[in-house]
Amino acid sequence: MGLESFQLTDRVALITGAGSGIGQAIAVALAEAGADVVGVYRRDADDTAEAVESTGRRFVGIQADLADVDAHGGTQIIGTAVARAGHLDILVNNAGIIARSPGLDLTLRDWRTVLDTNLTATFLLSQAAGRHFAARDVPAGQCRGKIVNIASLLSFQGGINVAGYTASKSGLAGLTRALANEWASLGINVNAIAPGYIETAATHDLLADPDRSSAIGSRIPAGRWGRPGDVAGAAVFLASAASAYVHGVVLPVDGGWLSR
Ligand code: NAP
Repeated sequence: MGLESFQLTDRVALITGAGSGIGQAIAVALAEAGADVVGVYRRDADDTAEAVESTGRRFVGIQADLADVDAHGGTQIIGTAVARAGHLDILVNNAGIIARSPGLDLTLRDWRTVLDTNLTATFLLSQAAGRHFAARDVPAGQCRGKIVNIASLLSFQGGINVAGYTASKSGLAGLTRALANEWASLGINVNAIAPGYIETAATHDLLADPDRSSAIGSRIPAGRWGRPGDVAGAAVFLASAASAYVHGVVLPVDGGWLSR
């Protein structure tokens, strides 16, 4: 297997939360590897569209509130993506939110929003994409589709004041294994990436807290917080033919945090 197996030429990749942070970095990296990008965003994805198009690939934007799981149901977004981009090869479930609160105070409303956005929307999009992939006519032994979920260190650990988030990301690790187990025989790869501490809007409050920021930084074997681009290589690998025999892994990209 040569280096061309890492190429994504003419594939179509849908990335949720494509307008910022890790999702933006993954969208641009997949485009650099040759894929057209369907970016699902809530507020805007103008910078991502510009960066993707500067690689010579196409960007299609779909605005959706993923927390509203009853409204989009997954099929609407995947159907729109296929209609506008022609087909779909790769789904990256990246959109996610954190509600920071001690477990004693966490509201049902915040719990539901976090679980709906991080876990239920991921299941619904995966199910709709899985149906599209499973129905594809491909030569025997060829991949029908790729799903990459963005999990977390809190797919493995408890975290502090983030019970809903930890429940969602731990559930996401289980969902990744469950769907990988069901769909490997269909030629569909379902895997996840567990980013460590990455400098984005989601970690802004942690970075702004000098005690937490330096406590976290000093525990990372690599000696620094991660940047969104640090996650991109793993996403290209898990989206490509190079990972054809990889099913159900939750791959840490964490500067060594979990190995400590
Ligand atoms: P981010 O820049 O805040 O990205 C989160 C993305 O999710 C945003 O683009 C946001 O869109 C989108 N999103 C949130 N709620 C949405 C909704 N209801 N509908 C549609 N889109 C929604 O932070 P990030 O760090 O890149 O996070 C990306 C993923 O990585 C998340 O799943 C997060 O849990 C995971 N992660 C991050 C870290 C880290 O250290 N940063 C570590 C582990 C895992 P809008 O901005 O338009 O609202």
